Amino acid sequence: MALFVLDIYLDCWKARFRIYSEERDVDTLQDPNKSAGRNDAGPRLGRFLIDGNWIEPSSGSVHLCTNPANGEVLGTLGEASTAELNAAVTAARRALDSGPWRNMLPNERARLLWRVADAIETNASELARLESLDQGQPLSLAMNMSVLGAAEHFRYFAGWCTKLDGRVPSVSRHDAMLYTRRVPVGVCGLITPWNFPLLIAAWKLAPALATGNTVVLKPAEQTSLTTLRLAELMHDVGIPRGVLNVITGAGPTGQAMTEHPGIDKISFTGSTAVGRSIVRASAGNFKRLSLELGGKAASVICPDADLNKIVPKNIANVINNAGQVCGALSRFYVHQSLHDEFVERAAAELSSVRVGAGLNKTSQMGPLNSVEHLERVDHMVKAAIAEGATPIVGGSRLDGIYASGSFYPPTMLEGVTEDMSVAREEIFGPVMPIMTYNDEEEVISRVNNSDYGLSASVWTENLARGHRLASHISAGAVRVNTVSGLDPAAPWGGMRASGWGREMGEEALEAYTEVKATWIGLE
Ligand code: NDP
Repeated sequence: MALFVLDIYLDCWKARFRIYSEERDVDTLQDPNKSAGRNDAGPRLGRFLIDGNWIEPSSGSVHLCTNPANGEVLGTLGEASTAELNAAVTAARRALDSGPWRNMLPNERARLLWRVADAIETNASELARLESLDQGQPLSLAMNMSVLGAAEHFRYFAGWCTKLDGRVPSVSRHDAMLYTRRVPVGVCGLITPWNFPLLIAAWKLAPALATGNTVVLKPAEQTSLTTLRLAELMHDVGIPRGVLNVITGAGPTGQAMTEHPGIDKISFTGSTAVGRSIVRASAGNFKRLSLELGGKAASVICPDADLNKIVPKNIANVINNAGQVCGALSRFYVHQSLHDEFVERAAAELSSVRVGAGLNKTSQMGPLNSVEHLERVDHMVKAAIAEGATPIVGGSRLDGIYASGSFYPPTMLEGVTEDMSVAREEIFGPVMPIMTYNDEEEVISRVNNSDYGLSASVWTENLARGHRLASHISAGAVRVNTVSGLDPAAPWGGMRASGWGREMGEEALEAYTEVKATWIGLE
């Protein structure tokens, strides 16, 4: 049954990126047991890409990046100083205002982005291995979702370069006409989290560059390796100097970007708490903001749901990237009539999930990304148990052979109530808090009574009920009988504390452009 879960999980991603449905053979990865050294991230590890040059950090301050599966040090990263941030912003401004980027035709920009996608695919095995080492993802997830997904985003937005049309609005004037154009916002500061570093960098870079902006990108300090390698590939395929600048560092570096007067827009994916601080910091120069923040996705299991179909899909979602997914199902509303059977079946599947290092090809679920995060998840589960929840599966940290990494077992908690933090706050771990409900009106009200509004899934064999619940649930994305929801063409983003704006799809073009009106006198 566990293998069945894995198959569904892979099918979800293959279906999302159909063009790559022939899964890359992860066997082709070289020496999967080798530990990562400097060469794994190319010669650029520990440097910044500023104005087309790889710069050694000036400050002595460094961060260690570690393999979450065993604590091994993978390399060191620099902390960008104010001078280095200023240099990156200046380079991005110069590239925006003059030079080849500004003068590049839309079809030339499209070709360049297409070449980025090709370079990602050519180096897919290396990137997947690096992501697995640094983030902890099982190789199949790193390959099919992170790496090939990133390539697909560049292809999708390459297509938009030649379709950024304006309008000719019907103004009520004889003496003038008006046309609008979409112009770049300017210098964009892109700040990414540690859960899908390569993919989320692509979510932001592809539309930002397709629409003619220039960027300064800061990945999360825990997982910067694939972003640095991507930058190297982009540089090598001919992205002009200054268009893409990458600096590394921790929270203060991100904060300095959000306060920087030379940055016109921040696109941030991360926690709601940091999102709030970015709103305050951006007031200085009225930066445009895109905020993709936390989520608390509900799984609503209706009385007519087919458990044979839906249990494996729910479990696949819970273990996907060890639950470190903004759209992860993390509160389960099971109709009272199905509760016992759902719990029994889901517990059986959850117990058989194979946990292990991402590079181990038999692993279905990898470690959490850091010891700090492991402690946070463990603390939330312990608090729920102390408040009266019962662990049916898992419920405490793994030891023995797992002790050197940040592994947490798939966990199911029963007897959860709405007032528990495990039911209200983002867990970002492989944890299923189970609650029951009696009728549709009740479950809609409980699902919507959340600070978050990113996504939800509804499971039913009744088409009308599916549409009805989808229409009443207040979230950026509602999925009926599926946990799929990510595609370069599908807008993604949240309501309320889950953020502002949408990434992906045509909607992402709005986030990276301003509408400019031009009036032409006719007399
Ligand atoms: P954080 O908010 O801690 O960090 C995100 C990024 O912001 C990191 O690069 C971080 O740097 C940086 N940062 C930290 N402090 C500041 C600051 N004051 N100003 C500017 N930047 C700052 O999030 P996590 O990395 O922990 O990521 C997990 C979160 O991301 C979860 O809440 C998850 O839901 C959310 N997320 C949302 C998605 C969505 O689409 N809605 C998708 C994926 C994740 P550093 O880490 O180096 O300190």
